Formats: sequence, C-alpha cells, structure tokens
Amino acid sequence: MKACVLRAPAAIETNPLEYAEVPMPQPKSGEALVRVRTCGVCRTDLHVIEGELPPRKSPVIPGHQVVGLIEKQGENARRFAVGTRVGIAWLHQTDGTCEYCRSGAENLCDHPLFTGYSVDGGYAEYIVAPEDFVYAIPEGFPDEQAAPLLCAGIIGFRSLRLSGIKAGARLGFYGFGAAAHVAIQVARHWGVEVFACTRDVRHQKLALQLGAAWAGSTCDEPRGALILGGIHMSPIPSLDYDLLYQERVIRSVANNTRKDGEDFLRVAAEIPIRTRVQVFPLAEANRALNALKNDAISGAAVLRIAE
Ligand SMILES: [Zn+2]
Ligand SMILES: [Zn+2]
Repeated sequence: MKACVLRAPAAIETNPLEYAEVPMPQPKSGEALVRVRTCGVCRTDLHVIEGELPPRKSPVIPGHQVVGLIEKQGENARRFAVGTRVGIAWLHQTDGTCEYCRSGAENLCDHPLFTGYSVDGGYAEYIVAPEDFVYAIPEGFPDEQAAPLLCAGIIGFRSLRLSGIKAGARLGFYGFGAAAHVAIQVARHWGVEVFACTRDVRHQKLALQLGAAWAGSTCDEPRGALILGGIHMSPIPSLDYDLLYQERVIRSVANNTRKDGEDFLRVAAEIPIRTRVQVFPLAEANRALNALKNDAISGAAVLRIAE
C-alpha cells in the first residue's frame, strides 16, 4: 500500500515524510482493518514529525484523525460489519487494567498506545486498530468534513467540558485553529458568548463567521479558567500570583476517553457541526504540514486518500 512514512524526525521544511510503498497491515485478534478515505492533519503530527515529542516508533506513519471503511475483521472482531464507515482517533489502545483505566480516566492510562505515534497512523491507504477503540461516524458528514472531528473536535470538546463553561458565560479562544473552529460551534450551541484572540486576520474572519462576538489580536486581563489543549507546548512564562488568586485555574487536557469521543460525535451530529477544510492528496502531506506550521490553513487540513 501507499503511505507517508517518517524515517527520522526532522524540520517539516525539509519535507521528511516519504511517500512510499509499504506492506499492508493485517488485523490481529480483536482488530479491524480499515481502508482509509481521509485523514485529518493535526498540529500534534507536526510535533511528532519534528521530534518535539520523543519518538515511540521509528519509522512511523503519522495521522490520527482517520475516516475509512471496515475492510476486514480480525479474529474475534465483530463490532462493525465489513463496509461500515468508521473513525480512528489519537487514543489507539489502553491497558484497561491500571488505576486510571479502572476509574474512568483512560485518557491518563499508564500504558497507552497512540495512533500515528506509538503505532502506525492514517497517512496511509490502510490502518489497523482495536475495534473497541474505533468510532462509528454519524451520517451527514462527508469524509473530508468528518476527519477533523476525530481530534480537533474531540479534544476541543473535552477542553470545553473541563472549562466548566455554562450557557450565558463568556469564553475566549487563544489562537483559532482547527480545534477552536469546531469548539466555537459547540459553545455557540450551548449559548456561550465567544471571543477569539488570534493574530491571523483570516482566522479572525472565520471566528466572526462562526458566531464570535468579537475577534482581534489583543486580549485584556482575561479572568477565570485557562484550559490548554495541546500535547506539546512552549514553556509557560512565570506570572504574578495575584493573576491566579481568586481561585482561577490553569489546566491541561491530556488525550481523551472513548466516552468523550462518543459524546462529541453525537453532539456534532445534533448541532450539526460544519467543519471548514483544505484538502490535500496523500502524496502532498509535507505541503499540508508546512502550510499548517505557517498558519496558512483556515479551519483544518485533511488528506484525501481514496474516494
Ligand atoms: Zn490503563
Ligand atoms: Zn491531534
């Protein structure tokens, strides 16, 4: 099969993904083989490719926002019939036995596997995944529009939940990338007033189109809870304690549970969420990632792998 393979981490400007012929994966017991149609491009892919996240598998095929059709079921796999349209996200598998898994916090599992990082991902014609970690994709989303729901959407949704935001409250987005452009639609659906703080004029425009009350490049004295949705971030500068006093909160979001994914996909279909995407062919994954790094994507970048 054709895939985009990362042999060794390197700056995306050097186009490190090699469009190559590689062996097709085979589903093991409990796994499904999926024929990939689209795969979203996420900033975490960039952090994997550029080595900001230490390599877990090398070479590796990136990509963790996969939409495709069940091609074949492994032994003991029977959850999805052949031909069913499904999605595969970042959380590839957990041990199911650690303290976190047993307490409903599988996003913090002691022994997790991540799609497109510790196992091969969706920048490829085929991918395998444990069927218990595969999502049904609601009808009504074309393949391209569905792909960004699987990370940008799910992580944005978990971030919104962790912020504790309620109807009538005010929410600020810092930066307005793929996750924010989905989360704003959920927030507006919940009756939340949204402010978008981003330097990029195209991103400001998109925020206003999606219902932001205000979009601009300066933000004065934000107060409340600050939720950080990234897996890798630059260091956080020191701050005066009185900015944090009054029980304000800074917290991170680590991965997601399967329940986050299922809840989000249900809400996304109800609203319904409409993602804005820029589509690239699989062979041009390097170009898509360069564009993402240069803030040249409005909405989300998606690779089209098969019709
Ligand atoms: Zn666990
Ligand atoms: Zn992601």
